[in-house]
Amino acid sequence: MPHNARHPATTAAQALGWTDRETGAVILPMHTATTFERDPDNQYRRGRIYARADNPGYDQPEALITALEGGAASLLFASGMAAATAVFRSLPAGAHVVAPRVMYWALRRWLAAEAAKGLLTVDFVDLTALDELRAAAQPGATALVWIETPANPLWSVTDIAAAADITHQAGALLAVDSTAATPVLTRPIEFGADIVMHSATKYLNGHSDVIAGALTGARRDNFWQCLVAERGAGGAILGGFEAYLLLRGMRTLFPRVERACRSAQLIAERMAAHPNVAAVLYPGLPSDPGHAVAARQMAGGFGGMLSLRVRGGEAAAIAAAARLRIWKRATSLGGVESLVEHRASIEGMSSPVPPDLLRLSVGIEDPGDLIADLEAALSGRD
Ligand code: PLP
Repeated sequence: MPHNARHPATTAAQALGWTDRETGAVILPMHTATTFERDPDNQYRRGRIYARADNPGYDQPEALITALEGGAASLLFASGMAAATAVFRSLPAGAHVVAPRVMYWALRRWLAAEAAKGLLTVDFVDLTALDELRAAAQPGATALVWIETPANPLWSVTDIAAAADITHQAGALLAVDSTAATPVLTRPIEFGADIVMHSATKYLNGHSDVIAGALTGARRDNFWQCLVAERGAGGAILGGFEAYLLLRGMRTLFPRVERACRSAQLIAERMAAHPNVAAVLYPGLPSDPGHAVAARQMAGGFGGMLSLRVRGGEAAAIAAAARLRIWKRATSLGGVESLVEHRASIEGMSSPVPPDLLRLSVGIEDPGDLIADLEAALSGRD
């Protein structure tokens, strides 16, 4: 059965089923070489020259991400930020881009800094309704539209297919930060995206022990070649050991994400009824403004991320987080262990995040334990 006819969970568990040709080993060896030998006639027929551009340890994880996303090719990077910024660095100087007002804060801050230096022209718009995108995407001028769905940390949803239509009518490229959705739930290329980006630090790796990023292209076109060149020359590459760990993590991507989604849904429903919770932000709740679009473009669940707005404001939110026993107070997301974070403390004054918001990354622990811990902490019990 060809890979594209199998369920992607099978493809992920077997990491495409690759085995070592020489030994039959079902796990391929890790590559640590920085350089590769030339042929006696001065050619490089085996295709590798120097590991800043070509690490054989990338082949399998990149091929797996490409298969899971339904793309043409993928590139691993040293971090999600390295992957995201490579996209913008590959645009012509001063290019006009459109990005969401609610997005991963460090990338929003980086874009604003690039704009202040005159290296990019950036319009930040509300991407939950597409009127602002329609007005901002200028035919002939806009080079790229960046979206993130569900968007960290309010988990607002953008309609990828509609955004792709508007973007392409303007002659621009659509890039999607799909970190929270994962290829388990959404394959943005099927909805018209040109580039998919992941902080592979999160669900793809899943064990909070690797910082990594990935880009997948819908086509191996000229822009893709610019991204390949940007990684090779910019040098934001992943280490061989990290690439090995990332592949190991991706083998369990489906069961991890499926369980996190089921638990997140249960937690969202229970928290919505808690007297000390003012609002639950989760696209899996039918009352959520993004639910209808999410139901169209997310299959099998609404993700493992949600946020709570705690009654009593910032101090009450921080105090509730302090009382948690199972949830760890830490930044990041997408690992097997559940994390909680008072997001405004890290994002600072310029952030659109309300001060009473706690972001929850649901892990794979027993959902009953996670709910009991939250209920006790929110009710003021230690
Ligand atoms: N995109 C999203 C949605 C994220 O949550 C993060 C990190 O938190 C990033 C991008 C950046 O990824 P990294 O920390 O791997 O650089």
